[in-house]
Amino acid sequence: MSARAGGVVTAWAEEGLDALKARGLRRYLEPLDSAQGPLVRLGGETLVNFASNDYLGLAASPTVRAAAAAALEAHGVGSGASRLVVGDTSVHQRLEARLAAFEHAEAVLLFNSGYAANVGTLQALVGPEDAVFSDALNHASLIDGCRLSRARTVVYPHSDVEALERALASTPARRRLVVTDTVFSMDGDLAPLRDIVQVCQAHGAALLVDEAHATGVLGERGAGLCEALGLEEAVDVRMGTLSKSLGGLGAYIAASRPVVDFVLQRARPLVYSTALPAALCAAAEAAVDIVERDDALRARLWRNIHRFSKGLRELGFAAEPRSAVFPVIVGEPERAVAASQALRSRGLLVKAIRPPTVPEGTSRLRFCLSAAHTEGQLDLALAALRALNL
Ligand code: PMP
Repeated sequence: MSARAGGVVTAWAEEGLDALKARGLRRYLEPLDSAQGPLVRLGGETLVNFASNDYLGLAASPTVRAAAAAALEAHGVGSGASRLVVGDTSVHQRLEARLAAFEHAEAVLLFNSGYAANVGTLQALVGPEDAVFSDALNHASLIDGCRLSRARTVVYPHSDVEALERALASTPARRRLVVTDTVFSMDGDLAPLRDIVQVCQAHGAALLVDEAHATGVLGERGAGLCEALGLEEAVDVRMGTLSKSLGGLGAYIAASRPVVDFVLQRARPLVYSTALPAALCAAAEAAVDIVERDDALRARLWRNIHRFSKGLRELGFAAEPRSAVFPVIVGEPERAVAASQALRSRGLLVKAIRPPTVPEGTSRLRFCLSAAHTEGQLDLALAALRALNL
């Protein structure tokens, strides 16, 4: 056995772990023994999976796998350097062109993850003389982007457009940028995007939206809430991920050509980080083709969303069919963990989401639906919830 390094830092870590454990907030890794899908192998069991953001079931699609495998053969595994050095390939550029067509955007810029896209884009576009207006329930990557940008950050109450307008009216700055998720990741609700666009236009502010949970789910072509509302041109920067509905890894911003060219110069997660492997770009290209061509897949997801939300409402939960994410709020973290374990004993993988991911007192079960779930699997989850009597 190797010797333990770092006595001082180990003591810090043990103190931190003990504090988390005392509050019921320590989390543990659990390795899957299968690909993503509606059924997964975990700890020797087969479980119905409600924990993955693979909303269209593309993570294990044979077509997507074959595209990745072909690019892996041609380009190898690693990309060797950042895109500005030698990590760029024709596969990256083809994917950007494909995504620009999908998003009806002038240009698209790839990032290694949604986290990197939000942090890098915010940090590139605004600085200490500027102000960012951020929804209180925005994803952590947008929050961290505000921090890295060192812009003044004004957090407005969740989806409160009047409060946003008041904040804009009373906060002068060199540049002003409003940032919001379109589908909120832990609640599944939608931002009041038409109103936000109007307020931004009235106050001369720019708007950046995070479509991570909307890409592939909303819109006739699956391009997200902006597409669904016809706001593609009214929103300055749209961020989408390759890691959820598109089944892979990576992300992108869709914007004007100058914005893309400028962010490429400045975004630290792009300039100082090795590029996405070509194989993942090829996988995403195949996935976008499927998403755009095969609206039967999205129709199946929406049938599941309607069935599940109806079932939840019958159990007394507030559950509108807005997106593929359904929270069941239970309150304290221990209750959420106990409920998750009880569902597990009935063959269901449903994660307990606790602070700091969600506010104190709102720990919850989070159900993520997929087009690949069968009606029987949804009904099993509803019956298990009924038995829990939450
Ligand atoms: N934005 C939102 C709203 C998200 O939910 C996530 C992922 N959970 C991200 C960004 C980050 O995306 P990625 O996982 O690709 O880093």
